[in-house]
Amino acid sequence: MIDDIAEKVYRCERLNLEDARRLWAHPNLAELGLLADHTRRRLHPEPVVTYNVGRNINYTNVCWVKCDFCAFYRKPGSSEGYVLSREQIFAKIDELVAFGGEEPKSCELLMQGGLNPKLRLDYYEELLSAIRDHYPMVQLHCLSATEIIYIAHLSRLSLAETIARLRQAGLDSIPGAGAEILDDGVRDIIGFRKDRTQEWLEVHRLAHGLGMRTTATMMYGHVETTEHRLQHLHLLRQLQDQTGGFTAFITWNFQPDHTGLGADPQRWQGRKATGFDHLRTVAVARLFLDNFSHFQASWVTQGPKIAQLSLGYGIDDFGSTMLEENVVSAAGTSHTGQMNLARMQELIRDAGYQVRRRNTRYQLVATPPRPAALAVAASA
Ligand code: SF4
Repeated sequence: MIDDIAEKVYRCERLNLEDARRLWAHPNLAELGLLADHTRRRLHPEPVVTYNVGRNINYTNVCWVKCDFCAFYRKPGSSEGYVLSREQIFAKIDELVAFGGEEPKSCELLMQGGLNPKLRLDYYEELLSAIRDHYPMVQLHCLSATEIIYIAHLSRLSLAETIARLRQAGLDSIPGAGAEILDDGVRDIIGFRKDRTQEWLEVHRLAHGLGMRTTATMMYGHVETTEHRLQHLHLLRQLQDQTGGFTAFITWNFQPDHTGLGADPQRWQGRKATGFDHLRTVAVARLFLDNFSHFQASWVTQGPKIAQLSLGYGIDDFGSTMLEENVVSAAGTSHTGQMNLARMQELIRDAGYQVRRRNTRYQLVATPPRPAALAVAASA
């Protein structure tokens, strides 16, 4: 029975960890959805679902960290390693702008890569400032906390100074990638070279302190327990209470193909999270993270139909059009080929919502994407 928790939700009272534990164990998924949807409608009374015109650019796949859940990286020295040239990056941004138009900061560039020992702070400063100067319509939503920590380390600078310099060069906001599960024991198992829990939080804390906005993520369904997920959400909620700097929460499940973790039965039990797991995770997170305004769908990992269904489990935003995706698709799962903007709009409307375009800060963008862009498929 969760009647007492439902009462708290209807009275807008904060849920505690024990409430969240009970919700996670509650067998009736539809009831979780009803409660999460109530919270979503309280926060967003208008029947609107937003999306963002954006693309990913993975500027390098060279990475020494070698996380066991990642199929994207290539070791330094690998013949398959790459660093995109300035011309290649600009050509990709040209495609984004052709799709999204000229309104300032209306097109989101999510640029992330591996931890490449050859790329120092000056590389990033030059690249970011060049993009900022050429493309005022582009929001530079770039570099995970993991990358920023490594750039600081390579450059022998403090995290605060590194973030300030990147911001000065044009970095607008920071994506929440690299959080995985914020527990050092879990991180030791899935990627022991990766930054620690407190380091990931510190990057976001510092960025918020500079007035930057960031997102928060959770990758679940590998070696973690429900308790780890709850503690992860608890850490995010605490930081959001302190700074208010997170714009959105996004969660997706571990994609095992072509990964060291996925091939290791000692560490991974071999059961990929189902759509039910995903909806439960989204709903409980929506109820617990009462200080997060927005929840994004994860159509790349869950596919169009579960993403559409998640609109009834607390999701208010369909995320990015993501004209290119390389990381999840390297792990054998990608629904990018099934999605374009027309399809995204159809999924939202069929679920009973109006469609609105937004920017990275969740401000509505009046200019629609170019009509020809509707049919441009997301690609892997
Ligand atoms: S997840 Fe990121 S840090 Fe880890 S191996 Fe892949 S690219 Fe490197």
